[in-house]
Amino acid sequence: MIRLALNTATTRRQWDLREAIEGCQRHGFTAIAPWRDQVEALGVGNTARSIRDAGLEVTGYCRGGMFPAATATLRKAAIHDNQRMISQAAEIGAPVLVLVCGGLVEGSRDLAGARQMVEDGIASIMDEARSAGVRLAIEPLHPMQAADRSCINTLDQALALCDRLDPDTSGLVGVAIDAYHLWWDPQLETQLQRAGSNRLMGFHLCDWLVPTRHLVTDRGMMGDGVIDLPGMADSMRRAGYDGTAEVEIFSDHWWSRPADEVMKVCRQRAAPILDHLHHPS
Ligand code: ZN
Repeated sequence: MIRLALNTATTRRQWDLREAIEGCQRHGFTAIAPWRDQVEALGVGNTARSIRDAGLEVTGYCRGGMFPAATATLRKAAIHDNQRMISQAAEIGAPVLVLVCGGLVEGSRDLAGARQMVEDGIASIMDEARSAGVRLAIEPLHPMQAADRSCINTLDQALALCDRLDPDTSGLVGVAIDAYHLWWDPQLETQLQRAGSNRLMGFHLCDWLVPTRHLVTDRGMMGDGVIDLPGMADSMRRAGYDGTAEVEIFSDHWWSRPADEVMKVCRQRAAPILDHLHHPS
């Protein structure tokens, strides 16, 4: 067994959720992070049962967020949708709902306004999250995705949001650290230490390829790109993160390979990184 989660985006073209759960068992992964479309295709109750029966940990449920919208009615709909996801997360045993917060409102140039909508959106789902026992992980996305996917783009910015929403650091609101989105940040080390164990709610692994041909669907396998993943794992450990790392590779290349091969390579490439994450050398 290897203390590693499969984010099911990694094998989404090859496997449905049931096959991904079986794949985790077959390849000795201890955890899974499922996406909503796959959970709803299998059924929330069936998903909960299958994951439990397989003895897998759930690292997070993907994904909530997408708060900015043009009208109050649409913003309210987004909030209701997130509330539904919180109850689904609780049902499938996910301790964390991952938030990809959303970008600019279509046709708008009001970035500050979009960021305020994100803050207001998260604030209005905190009660449900607290009573469901589900934590909210803001995932900062690379700034090139500010317009269309998330206007929360640095760890500093995400943590400032956490400070405002949860000033007591209760652990209800925190961050998911995705190597792909944050590796370039000169403040990464400082901000990881600032986050600390209460706010670090996930560690997503992949690599940054040179050149990167597509921002969303050309992520690299760990070791094939330029990110110092062992170094990042050291920083996460020193900052107090003791959770399970998760492989999350959106890649036209790896989606074209047999999923069992992908799992083998993931396992092999993740092992030395996990050594750094779990064992001080
Ligand atoms: Zn991620």
